[in-house]
Amino acid sequence: AKGKKTWIYKADNVRDFAFASSRKFLWDAMGVDLNGRKVMCMSYWPKEGEPLWSRYSTHAVAHSVDVYSKFTFDYPYPVAISVNAPIGGMEYPMICWQRPRPEKDGTYSKRTKYGLISVIIHEVGHNWFPMIVNSDERQWMWMDEGLDSFVQFLTEQEWEEDYPSRIMPEREGGLLGYLKQENKMPIMTGADSLQSTGYNAYTKPTLALNILRESVLGREQFDYAFKQYAQRWMFKRPTPADFFRTMEDASGQDLDWFWRGWFYGTDHTDISIENIHRYSVDTRDPYKEKTSKKNKRDDEPKRLFQNRNKSLPKRVDSFPELKDFYNEFDELEITDKDREAYEKMLKGLSDKEKALLEEKRHFYKIDLKNNGGLVMPVVIKATFEDDTTQEFRLPAQIWRRSPEAVSKMLVTEKKIAKLEIDPNRETADVDIENNFYPRRIREHQFRLSKPSKSGNPLRDKKKAAEKSKRDEEKRKQAEEKKKAESEKKKTEEKKKD
Ligand SMILES: [Zn+2]
Repeated sequence: AKGKKTWIYKADNVRDFAFASSRKFLWDAMGVDLNGRKVMCMSYWPKEGEPLWSRYSTHAVAHSVDVYSKFTFDYPYPVAISVNAPIGGMEYPMICWQRPRPEKDGTYSKRTKYGLISVIIHEVGHNWFPMIVNSDERQWMWMDEGLDSFVQFLTEQEWEEDYPSRIMPEREGGLLGYLKQENKMPIMTGADSLQSTGYNAYTKPTLALNILRESVLGREQFDYAFKQYAQRWMFKRPTPADFFRTMEDASGQDLDWFWRGWFYGTDHTDISIENIHRYSVDTRDPYKEKTSKKNKRDDEPKRLFQNRNKSLPKRVDSFPELKDFYNEFDELEITDKDREAYEKMLKGLSDKEKALLEEKRHFYKIDLKNNGGLVMPVVIKATFEDDTTQEFRLPAQIWRRSPEAVSKMLVTEKKIAKLEIDPNRETADVDIENNFYPRRIREHQFRLSKPSKSGNPLRDKKKAAEKSKRDEEKRKQAEEKKKAESEKKKTEEKKKD
């Protein structure tokens, strides 16, 4: 039809707007129920997005609306839309754009698949930060990108088990490599001056908040406080202090040290075990003490000169009359005098002292050194001589008198064979090797050539299937040809007959 048509759109409580139009769009939708209210989750994409977009886009939108609502407040808008366009992830209220598409042959790499799901979650998540919890992106980039990336991580982990979240740094390289560098900026740097924004605005805040949740506050306290922040500041203008203050007063914890270290500072986590000392009571029991001293002495290696002098002829061997009592006497041999002294001492002990003598537990002093500067909780896994283990969780407050080094006492029922700190890899410790006591050998590899790029296994599989199909056809053709030839031969032979 000819003529003009006017569309009028109205949206409440939005701080920006955008729209998309195309004759080519495919469209699907799925409702998400939020406490009885239906939010319509939708996707628009051209056929070039197939088969990825019909499979994942709307589900990713619906999943985001679901999980973000759980961690913050119910999504207040009526619709949430994901559009495929050549824009590398861009957010607006209720609508966002994503670039990832499959290859022309319909195959796609693992990175493309999870890249698409992740970017949809991230951009839909921006509805909460900063569209509704309305922080100022031009001053503090982490307040929207960081908080959104953190909830994106939580949302991804509820998509499938061990979802490959690129927003959560791997142990090697990436953010942990950056954190070790000398010249860094704090997360709190103004957005105009901020460098390495991928780390400082996205992955470092995500890592920090995950540590705050898992290792400092615990999930219950953190989730309550985080929700408080989102709900207090929805449709308002929070500044960093509002976030820090809400997390503290809602959790009831003083977190100044945490904000100082992770948001205002550039230190990293690198805690090492320097030494272990074992303390035991001197029982004065000659059987115990003298025997153990004797064993220790006899276990000591002979010194070099002693070994070399061993074969030298000795005067006392040439003149045996020179030998007397002291040539045989061992001062660590138990004597009657020792026994009597011990009996006498026992009689003079108070009950308290006697109880101490019977102490069966082991006392260890662990010397910890803070190489990275960041004060963090310390998790210690002790492995005992019988291979059983025990975990000790020490709060960050252990560093309050000296952030450089601290010693902690561990009291155990069994004898410790070895120690490991951060056994669950929860504190982003950049050097794992100094977490072991005793140390492990540091493993390195010579590289013979450049590593190959990660490819598209789905296409490899498709190509392999096509090749085996072609091979199969060739084989059939060859077989038929052979058959035809032998038939021909037969008829010719028959003719001869
Ligand atoms: Zn973003």
